[in-house]
Amino acid sequence: MKILRFQTSIRGPRYGWLHEDRIGEVDGDPFNAFRRLDPDLPIESVQLLPPVRPGKIVCVGRNYQAHAQEHGVEVGDIPVLFLKPGSSLVGPGDPIILPPQSQQVQHEAELAVVIGRRGRWIQPEDAMAYIFGYTIANDVTARDLQRADTTWTRGKGFDTFCPLGPWIETEFDPADALITCHVSQELRQMASTRDMVFSIQRLIAFISSVMTLEPSDIILTGTPAGVGDLVAGDTVSITIEGLGTLTNPVVSEK
Ligand code: MG
Repeated sequence: MKILRFQTSIRGPRYGWLHEDRIGEVDGDPFNAFRRLDPDLPIESVQLLPPVRPGKIVCVGRNYQAHAQEHGVEVGDIPVLFLKPGSSLVGPGDPIILPPQSQQVQHEAELAVVIGRRGRWIQPEDAMAYIFGYTIANDVTARDLQRADTTWTRGKGFDTFCPLGPWIETEFDPADALITCHVSQELRQMASTRDMVFSIQRLIAFISSVMTLEPSDIILTGTPAGVGDLVAGDTVSITIEGLGTLTNPVVSEK
């Protein structure tokens, strides 16, 4: 099942579900009790929004060996965690805005996990039961500012630096899915999720040993090798096999 959020020119933001190329409304809370209404809206007639409004966006750094190597750092014994603010979220088709403070903004194609149940101290063997579904994220990063600062908050936290979508797939197998990232037709990143250093089960166990995970929280599971610069006029398209494609244009801040 594909769950999304959308709006139209006459109706505000709401949850929906996708059937082929038509969208139906969701009556109720997708994280609790809900009904799917008839899919009567062509997908072209709506604006897709980020498919969830997360309580928190928890991100994992250096979770693919080859990406850590391209930055000359080792993968540690425990995952590197950081947070992105809710204000960084944008939906499918929304522009990534290059801020004037940075000379080097880069894409990071990532599998995003959407949490469906509240939990603390979740054991790895129980972790999959806490997942609502999966979507695609771009952990956009001002690399020069990330390197200049002690924490990654500024480099990772600008408005529009977390494109998410196009929808949440609840029946996705994350064990061996191909992630690709194209920037204006050029293939930049290609890897399988099987190359993650820390599995999704281990990530959920580790993160929930620090903070309570709650329905709608999302976890960005790290990016493979091949990150590269973005310039105004580019279009970034991230595809994850079984999930779809997240596409965003790149513009300069006025
Ligand atoms: Mg990342």
